[in-house]
Amino acid sequence: MFNTLSDRLTSVLQNLRGKGRLTEADIDATAREIRVALLEADVALPVVRTFIAKVKERAKGAEVSQALNPAQQVVKIVNEELVGILGGETRRLNLAKTPPTVIMLAGLQGAGKTTLAGKLAKWLKGQGHTPMLVACDLQRPNAVTQLQVVGQRAGVPVFAPEPGNGVGDPVDVARKGIEEAKRAQHDVVLVDTAGRLGVDEEMMRQAVDIRAAVQPDEVLFVVDAMIGQDAVNTATAFADGVGFTGVVLTKLDGDARGGAALSVREVTGQPILFASNGEKLEDFDVFHPDRMASRILG
Ligand code: GDP
Repeated sequence: MFNTLSDRLTSVLQNLRGKGRLTEADIDATAREIRVALLEADVALPVVRTFIAKVKERAKGAEVSQALNPAQQVVKIVNEELVGILGGETRRLNLAKTPPTVIMLAGLQGAGKTTLAGKLAKWLKGQGHTPMLVACDLQRPNAVTQLQVVGQRAGVPVFAPEPGNGVGDPVDVARKGIEEAKRAQHDVVLVDTAGRLGVDEEMMRQAVDIRAAVQPDEVLFVVDAMIGQDAVNTATAFADGVGFTGVVLTKLDGDARGGAALSVREVTGQPILFASNGEKLEDFDVFHPDRMASRILG
């Protein structure tokens, strides 16, 4: 079990009650606790370092507050910095001026991409959009069928290659899917792409080709929050290899403490747009940096 960051801070800061100002030693002790808590929450080391440097600097410069004791002041600073590093405000989807908006989904196999496609489609429908799914994961057996099932559950049509014509070309399917969306006047197209178990060149090349062909308004990198530190390596590889405009964190219903969120946002500089927290279509929400900060703080 983790000691939450809040618990750690409270215990280290208990002796600060009654003090008017934080001493250098108080701040250092606090920084050590924050460091351990963040590493336990699986935040990448360079991100931890940057974060602590910021908190220390602010804590040192903090004015003696009438309203808050030093302990509360530190917690407030940590919380604000966490929200900041997580992106501050919730970032909305970029919608195309001329529909359809094209959203490409990329990520490793098992990250939860296909499930996410259904969730996002259902959510978009609820927002008054008329989404369509395009099945470009032609690598994994059953991926197309799985997307069709998910599409049916979400009540959203799925464009897929005709069965029986061999593996097919995902770039071609993506192009035709968008043509079909235009024809049938769907205002958002979600393009599901192939993932692999690990980062590999072929997968990257395919994603790059699809991206070039469909010129998406958003490329969402879907990443499993449970993979902890690996999330950073995978995100960096996708950022360098394909590029993306936003992140979706999945499996937040597990006991991941949110370290992946903090790291991926900070390392890639791209915002987290959505969070998936369960296997059902409705287990999905817009990502709220303040709520994730509270979760990390405990
Ligand atoms: P893909 O290979 O990236 O398309 O991944 P899938 O969508 O097939 O998901 C892989 C597995 O993770 C499936 O068993 C999903 O039911 C499960 N899954 C997806 N999203 C979540 C989530 O947010 N929470 C949990 N607990 N499971 C999820």
